[in-house]
Amino acid sequence: MGQVGILALQGAFAKHGEALDRLGVAWCLVRTADDLAGVDRLIIPGGESTTMTRLLRTEGWWPQLKAFAEQHPVMGTCAGLIMLAHALAEPDSRVAPLGVLDVTVDRNAYGRQTESFSAPLQTSAWPEGAPFQGVFIRAPRVTACGPGVAVVARLGDEPVAVRQGGWLGLAFHPELTGDDRFHRYFLDAC
Ligand code: GLN
Repeated sequence: MGQVGILALQGAFAKHGEALDRLGVAWCLVRTADDLAGVDRLIIPGGESTTMTRLLRTEGWWPQLKAFAEQHPVMGTCAGLIMLAHALAEPDSRVAPLGVLDVTVDRNAYGRQTESFSAPLQTSAWPEGAPFQGVFIRAPRVTACGPGVAVVARLGDEPVAVRQGGWLGLAFHPELTGDDRFHRYFLDAC
């Protein structure tokens, strides 16, 4: 396997590198379209999808990022899930999702920053199914999934981890708990 890229325009990218270090996987930060040439999969971190969109637009490489995402495995967490989605429940001209993962997301649906929470998630992502502690920070809710999308973790009845082929979208922040099982799952299964 080649290097894993971590999109580092903005947001919570650093701790993904720590997770990949613990897993012994080579990675690099992706800050320009040229950086994409050196990676064979990508993590889009949490942060703020309006800011990521603005930077991709002003730096002019949204189309290259979309083309990369169409052809490679990508894990998007929180704002990264929003960027992977096909559609926003409430379209907003400030956010331009890449349109690869066939889900609709409702931004900030789990509340404000001060309403951040952590909760055990039921998951089918690994055989023993042991819960994963999900950290939700202004998290998006998945409000619709297309037919090709598998739900791999739920919070109560709601999908919070969804997968379609090589694309994995997580509403929560898997890099904040020191539990690397979703990073491992992305590397092994997607
Ligand atoms: N609410 C943010 C957005 O719309 C995402 C929050 C996060 O990534 N923790 O992009």
